[in-house]
Amino acid sequence: MERTELENLGEFGLIKRLSKHIKNSNPTTVLGIGDDAAVIDAGDYYTLITTDMLMEGVHFDLSYAPLKHLGYKCAISNFSDIYAMNGKPTHMVVSIGLSNRFSLEAIEELYAGIISAAEVYGVDIVGGDTVSSKSGLVVNIAAYGKVDKDKVVYRSGAKDKDLLVVSGDLGGAYMGLQILEREKAVFESTPGVQPDLEGHDYILERQLKPEARKDVVEILAQLGVKPTSMIDISDGLASEVLHLCDSSAVGAHLYEEKIPIDPTVVSAATDFNLDPTICALNGGEDYELLFTIAQSDYEKLKGNPHFTFIGHIEEGSSPTLVARDGTAHELKAQGWDAFLEKKKGDSETDSQV
Ligand code: ADP
Ligand code: MG
Repeated sequence: MERTELENLGEFGLIKRLSKHIKNSNPTTVLGIGDDAAVIDAGDYYTLITTDMLMEGVHFDLSYAPLKHLGYKCAISNFSDIYAMNGKPTHMVVSIGLSNRFSLEAIEELYAGIISAAEVYGVDIVGGDTVSSKSGLVVNIAAYGKVDKDKVVYRSGAKDKDLLVVSGDLGGAYMGLQILEREKAVFESTPGVQPDLEGHDYILERQLKPEARKDVVEILAQLGVKPTSMIDISDGLASEVLHLCDSSAVGAHLYEEKIPIDPTVVSAATDFNLDPTICALNGGEDYELLFTIAQSDYEKLKGNPHFTFIGHIEEGSSPTLVARDGTAHELKAQGWDAFLEKKKGDSETDSQV
């Protein structure tokens, strides 16, 4: 029998292949695989469902990620997917795989982080599962949320000439990871040396204790703006622009000079000899929201410090990055493709713009 290597498919190729065999028959399934969360008809509103799994040695390294922060991050990465549907997370179930390498106190630390996120975002923890693991700690959270039927936003709604908008700034989580990896390497080669994390508070926080953009969904509602499409940025801007374009069957022009990057990210990237634009495009875990709006909503968002206009949708063209010098490049994603990389954070500089 033929054997297809997963590395030739990639993560998204695999999901596409698997979803071919899945036929949903329940009339309440409004949308299954393919967006940030599934959409289920709950009568008066839609229920949203999403799940994320974090594996030790792949998604986190306990030599620098405190368990409490890890729990917090795993929870908010799920909430972020609910916000990306313009919804509100309400409930979650938490499953863990672990060995007796961990003490009760350690697992309580992990839970303290999950509980803290649940409190901050107003989400109830209503169950889960506990199993033993022989390959390190595994944390899997599934979050449920709700959204009014007329408010749900999919990846697939972007229209020609819509404006491409992003919240916050990008590349910080990736640069935070570079600092942590560097200090780990120094510590391993010279035990006893204290890590030098001075002056990197912002990017370390972006990596270790990110937040989901609850506020963005609230601000958009207050401003009376319903995005035409939306996705959260967990795998890097380039990957998410491609997903939006693919789902909406459109192209886009993304302007390098418009991509919001914090000055501390630029200076850290420069120290590492990395191009800050590449960090924003291909680095992951920023948990910002990327969305499109109709041009008629431009005035409502213009000048708002939470948002940056980074480009527009172009039907009939392929997704394009317009560099600072005006040259156009086909947008390619490196992102975090599960089967192409040993480890999150190893993707780095292999310039793909
Ligand atoms: P996100 O980055 O927003 O969490 P993913 O890229 O992980 O989304 O997943 C994309 C889509 O594929 C989602 O709809 C998700 O539910 C679905 N998906 C991912 N893995 C599987 C799987 N093993 N089986 C079925 N659906 C999956
Ligand atoms: Mg997502």
